[in-house]
Amino acid sequence: MSLELSAIASSISPSATLGLNATVAQLRSQGVDVISLGAGEPDFDTPYHIRQAAKEAIDAGKTRYTDVSGIPELRKAIVDHIFEHKKLRYEPDEIIVSSGAKQAIVLALQAILDPQDEVILPSPYWISYTEMIKIAGGKPVFISTTPDTDFLPTPEQLAAAVTEHTKAIIINSPNNPTGNIWPRSLIAAAAELARKHDFFMISDEIYEDLCYDGYTHISPAQISDDAKQRTILVSGFSKAYAMTGWRMGYASGPRYVIKAMIALQSHATGNPNSITQYAALTALRAPQDCVMDMATCFARRRTLLLFLLAKNGLMPGAMPKGAFYMLLDIRPYLGKQLNGETVENDADFAAMLLEHGHVAVIPGTPFGASGFVRLSYAVNDIQIGEAIRRITAFVRSLQ
Ligand code: PMP
Ligand code: GLU
Repeated sequence: MSLELSAIASSISPSATLGLNATVAQLRSQGVDVISLGAGEPDFDTPYHIRQAAKEAIDAGKTRYTDVSGIPELRKAIVDHIFEHKKLRYEPDEIIVSSGAKQAIVLALQAILDPQDEVILPSPYWISYTEMIKIAGGKPVFISTTPDTDFLPTPEQLAAAVTEHTKAIIINSPNNPTGNIWPRSLIAAAAELARKHDFFMISDEIYEDLCYDGYTHISPAQISDDAKQRTILVSGFSKAYAMTGWRMGYASGPRYVIKAMIALQSHATGNPNSITQYAALTALRAPQDCVMDMATCFARRRTLLLFLLAKNGLMPGAMPKGAFYMLLDIRPYLGKQLNGETVENDADFAAMLLEHGHVAVIPGTPFGASGFVRLSYAVNDIQIGEAIRRITAFVRSLQ
């Protein structure tokens, strides 16, 4: 025996998105005026009525263990919410409430993967998926895409990625980091492959409320009964209700899969936070104006950001249609220098921009998007304006 870490733990990198949050906080504590277009976190406060519900839950003594899968009222509210938004019928025992969508995705992967099972992951993808698949003992199989297809895979690419070891595909639409939205035809193509080769679809729908320019969100579970039976639908409260720190997400899916996820959760964390569950219940049961107000605000910021990028000759990787992210094409700056330092790759670009321009962005490579950096526009108009002014000055200073 030895005191070495496990092979899985040794293969896992810490989250670059959350890491950047910590770096920005540290720089700010040293008095550096940093604008962060980094980690994707709404800058709004959690709406008042949701905060109030949490306070009331504490005073009402809702402080004990709950059902591992979440309080029945909340699971029923999630059932109603999914039906109202997606016309999909689930029963409360086909729902699990977890400590964030993150935990729901890890549980889903742990529930279905055996060692060497493959999970198809179209690039660019959210940073955590690769590590989550590895945590669950599986193997990511990447599909590379380009700006020419708006960073969407083609049906042919999806088909080519399937092997006898394929256990699932992860679909994230609206997408982090590209902001793209899968059209119904592409989701249907994925569902048809899943039917033909008998694998799961994990659908991360956390940005479902943030779609712009008339684009709409489609869940693979909406394609057909067969597709619903093989979809594990994941969503949460972090983005729609500005509740990132509360840690509240959920999954719905086939009963036997949800049951396995509940068993895993019963040992890993037990129930999600009881107070947060009551806050989430109010979030779903109260009028949804706050969600729409925040979505309208993100839509306006996106328009402003795109206008300023175009005005300053900066190039989006593709037109973002949802979420609050987009990729910026930094390939024109590769090989250029500032004070003798060369921009060799997107990580150098992000590091030099932070050092010289005091703007935090995330390198594209950990998202499977080398040659790009991710901009999050979950910041106010003034910060967007100032960030683009600084980025423009930085790229003009490169020789
Ligand atoms: N999925 C995607 C695509 C995300 O960007 C995030 C980041 N918050 C999550 C899931 C996890 O969200 P939560 O805060 O609910 O864990
Ligand atoms: N998901 C957000 C992001 O991509 C928040 C940070 C994280 O959980 O990864 O920036």
